[in-house]
Amino acid sequence: MAKRDYYEVLGVDRNATQEEIKDAYRKLALKYHPDRNKGSKEAEEKFKEAAEAYAVLSDPEKRKQYDQFGRTDFDQAGGGPTFSGVEDIFAAFGDIFGDLGGFFGGDLFGFGGRSSSRRGRGAAQASRGTSLRADIEITLEEAVKGTEKTLKINRMGVCKNCGGTGARPGTGHSTCQYCGGAGMIQRSRGFFQLRETCPQCGGSGVVLQDPCPACRGKGMVPEDVTLKVKIPPGVDTGTTLRLAGQGEPGQGGGPPGDLLVVIHVKEHEFFHRDGLDLYCEIPITYAQAVLGAEVEIPTLTGRKVTLKIPPGTQSGQVLRLRGQGIQDPESRNKGHLYVRVFVEVPRKIDKRQEELLKEFAKLEEKNRDKRRNIFRKVRDFFGDK
Ligand SMILES: [Zn+2]
Ligand SMILES: [Zn+2]
Repeated sequence: MAKRDYYEVLGVDRNATQEEIKDAYRKLALKYHPDRNKGSKEAEEKFKEAAEAYAVLSDPEKRKQYDQFGRTDFDQAGGGPTFSGVEDIFAAFGDIFGDLGGFFGGDLFGFGGRSSSRRGRGAAQASRGTSLRADIEITLEEAVKGTEKTLKINRMGVCKNCGGTGARPGTGHSTCQYCGGAGMIQRSRGFFQLRETCPQCGGSGVVLQDPCPACRGKGMVPEDVTLKVKIPPGVDTGTTLRLAGQGEPGQGGGPPGDLLVVIHVKEHEFFHRDGLDLYCEIPITYAQAVLGAEVEIPTLTGRKVTLKIPPGTQSGQVLRLRGQGIQDPESRNKGHLYVRVFVEVPRKIDKRQEELLKEFAKLEEKNRDKRRNIFRKVRDFFGDK
């Protein structure tokens, strides 16, 4: 199999930020997590491939080299990591799967950040669960009227086997042998005595007697959930809805994170939206442009409104329908509907139309000659040749 570009593997831009790289890896790691793809060789390969890409791109120094040399030279220089198996990845990125707050949190949204550097398998210190982001695409009609959508996401959920404790059912925690339960250890460096958080239990003073086999002691497993999302009227692309508590579970009794739903409004086939205003284009006939007319225009609510085309309207002219734009649910402001009319030339006409048009053309010519004569007279009068 040809080695793919690391950026391509993660599906990110070459100038992606560290946050974007983390986020992209996080999604792939969840998707191809061995716990949810039991026995799939292909998923395991993808899982490994993503971990390799992340190992390089998350390290600024390695990333720089990679950017400079590219995949082939980078590999030949021994730059890329090799994971022989899934267990290797768990070992290398133990924190990534075990310490969700630290990795998955990433403080992407400026909250839910944590300070503890828990690493062991002890009882967790209370920390808030990771907040997640999901995207929903809706139509312009739905954005205007409001709607309800079903959202399928995968996230880390509480392990049902151990209830989130990480301990094999029937077992519990025992005092950490490394620190004797103190959670801190003393180290001497020359004359100094340093107190440090115990690396074994992460400061909690206890460790798991026997980790839960279903979640490898993490207390969480990937899960698929289906949620109903109520979208209020008046949203636009970029509007973010917060579903409190629908993120990933907290640790050590901490509250769960939130789910942030980002709205994307699809381009409408007829209307273009700009804030509260709507824009559209309609074709009119030459006769309608000359004589004036009334035409029916569809609106987003399904109701039709009448547009008056004044006599002598030019092709490309923009007419405004007051108050026929989008209603702002908060300010009670209402946008307008701007209609650009353009004169459509028929590709085919019947005999009678042709006769009439020819007659019309003759009249036009006569009028033109008359205008020319007037113009000549004026020129002569002023003595210009
Ligand atoms: Zn478990
Ligand atoms: Zn300890």
